[in-house]
Amino acid sequence: MGGLAVSSDGYAPQKVHKKKQRHAYHDLGQPSAPPQPPPGTPQGYGSSQGQFLNAGQMQPQAPGSPYMGQSPAQPMAHMSPADRLRSGEEMVATQGRVDPEQIPSIPRSRDVAAQYYLTQVYPTMERHLPPPAAIPFLAHDQGNSSPKFARLTLNKLPSTSESLASTALPLGMILQPLAPLQEGEQPVPVLDFGDAGPPRCRRCRTYINPFMTFRSGGNKLVCNMCNFPNDVAPEYFAPTDPSGVRVDRLQRPELMLGTCEFLVPKEYWAKEPVGLRWLFLIDVSQVSLQQKLIESVCEGIRHALYGDELEEAEEEGDGTEPSAGKLPAGSKVGIVTYDKEVHFYNLSASLSQAQMMVMTDLEEPFVPLGEGLFVDPQESKPIISSLLDQLPTLMSRVKAPEPALLPTLNAALAALANTGGKVLCALSTLPTWGPGRLVVRDDGKGLDTDTEKKLLSTEHPGFKKTASSMVTAGVGVDFFLAATGGQYLDIATIGHISALTGGEVFLYPNFYAPRDHTKLANEIKHAVTRETGYQALMKVRCSNGLQVSSYHGNFLQLTFGADLEIGTIDADKAMAVIFSYDGKLDTKLDAHFQAALLYTTASGQRRVRCINIVAGVMEGAMESMRTVDQDAVVSVVAKEASSRLADKSLKDIRAGITEKTIDILAGYRKNFSGSHPPGQLVLPENLKEFSMYMLGLIKSRAFKGMINLSNY
Ligand SMILES: [Zn+2]
Repeated sequence: MGGLAVSSDGYAPQKVHKKKQRHAYHDLGQPSAPPQPPPGTPQGYGSSQGQFLNAGQMQPQAPGSPYMGQSPAQPMAHMSPADRLRSGEEMVATQGRVDPEQIPSIPRSRDVAAQYYLTQVYPTMERHLPPPAAIPFLAHDQGNSSPKFARLTLNKLPSTSESLASTALPLGMILQPLAPLQEGEQPVPVLDFGDAGPPRCRRCRTYINPFMTFRSGGNKLVCNMCNFPNDVAPEYFAPTDPSGVRVDRLQRPELMLGTCEFLVPKEYWAKEPVGLRWLFLIDVSQVSLQQKLIESVCEGIRHALYGDELEEAEEEGDGTEPSAGKLPAGSKVGIVTYDKEVHFYNLSASLSQAQMMVMTDLEEPFVPLGEGLFVDPQESKPIISSLLDQLPTLMSRVKAPEPALLPTLNAALAALANTGGKVLCALSTLPTWGPGRLVVRDDGKGLDTDTEKKLLSTEHPGFKKTASSMVTAGVGVDFFLAATGGQYLDIATIGHISALTGGEVFLYPNFYAPRDHTKLANEIKHAVTRETGYQALMKVRCSNGLQVSSYHGNFLQLTFGADLEIGTIDADKAMAVIFSYDGKLDTKLDAHFQAALLYTTASGQRRVRCINIVAGVMEGAMESMRTVDQDAVVSVVAKEASSRLADKSLKDIRAGITEKTIDILAGYRKNFSGSHPPGQLVLPENLKEFSMYMLGLIKSRAFKGMINLSNY
């Protein structure tokens, strides 16, 4: 996100940079540095230790545990927590008793893993602890999904909820269903079972997966979630060998791979699937013109659709196909501009230039043209390019001061009602015109008061209604918000549309075109070119004994237990699922999870993507502590915390995060760490950096609280 000051390298503002420097203690250049002045103690370490000591007077249990983390803090024990906090760095330097190598470091542990996975592949069944989420790695799908798509907080589950409670850890899963794969990884196979659709359990509707077993010579398919023995349809029958394995297993990706996609027949359609329609809404009101937002947006769209001229010239030069475009085949684009009126454009390839049609009915927006609004970006390339070139000049004559946002969104919804699609909307100022006009709600005094919650959420009936209607129609909205001069934009209300429809808000505080132009253009390009699906429904199923207790993320869930409805979903979007126990798990069986995302691809195919995850079940939670996925825990805690913004104060949310951290570390100390002197900080090996992440979370823009807080 852009910052305050203008600097020479685009959008890395001086001020923020300076602050970063102050916190950058880690010396990555010399991982095995000799005992010269150590790089110091990260701030988070000192403070979390203070909290921990205050909380932990309990007796250690389970002596002799082989599984323990760092205990570098002996000399700190006789100092008061406050002194320790202040003097951490100096003390380490003068006494030199803390081995700097022992101090947890996020960059260091990430780099060690990154180095390892430069040469190693991650086999998804053999290993029980995925690589850190932020490093590149190649996963080999062995029947368990790649951690790129799904990560469990615990890779071995305790058999009872009491054992889970002793860890204070959440049992959850982070899902990123359309996560990008990297070069060298096998693409997710797309399987076609014709009109019958993919085989499913008749009782619980779980899709076929590698953990379903065949019985009675291949005639029965036993569900891995509910154990129901299904009859195998004749067209799917294959005999089993003496060990009970289907003879054709190796040729069946759905029985071999954790992640598969199935083409689905008509009963899975809400409407006829078509290629994704992209609708660009461009603010052409006065501020947008003055701040040159319109130019940056037009350039960004051109760049997203056609790449730069240079790239293009190269492509054409080497004799390959004439530039195939950046969007998947079948996608179409449309352009709408708006100020106090909404302008549609006929972009038909048969025209010599785009035709503008003005829609002035803000109360009941409609679409003033049938044909030519959505066109193939390649066929209409000359028309679209010249329109994008001319828009800034064309609009500079009008100079309408106030944009009417909600009517424009409703017009976009009307245009996409029959197909669904993706809207990218640029806005330069608080939309103060027409129905759904917004007012300045934040007087800068809301911080830490009761109004805070209201400022961070919306009660606007118009925006809420449009958001739900968009989800139902399969429409998602990304916003590009340029808050010029640090102006208030009521992002809580505008952003609600993105939050519910599965979109995203890109914010440029203090938008300044010379600085932010490249960033904006790149982000538009990224939003357009990342894998995107629409009209999505999602459901997570799990083994008997467990149940889904909540979902956290951007979607519409009408009732508890209903499928999640998502307008659009793309490669960057993730959600958290929290599970609870409704019984005791059998330690002789594994626990299974399946996420199914039903969606329409950008090229217009209706598919289900199934993501299967398995975890062992153990008596007690010791094994769970050994297989904690720190990144998944951090992500679950963050998503849970952000879902509370509407009903808790920021202060309480921050306190909740701190408490959770203490509970987890204290739980470990009490139940799993063996015997240590009371002054020592004992961290589980896999949660070594956890308290630093939590400190980062508390200090993040989302939770730290600031004046004009609803803009960030
Ligand atoms: Zn079943």
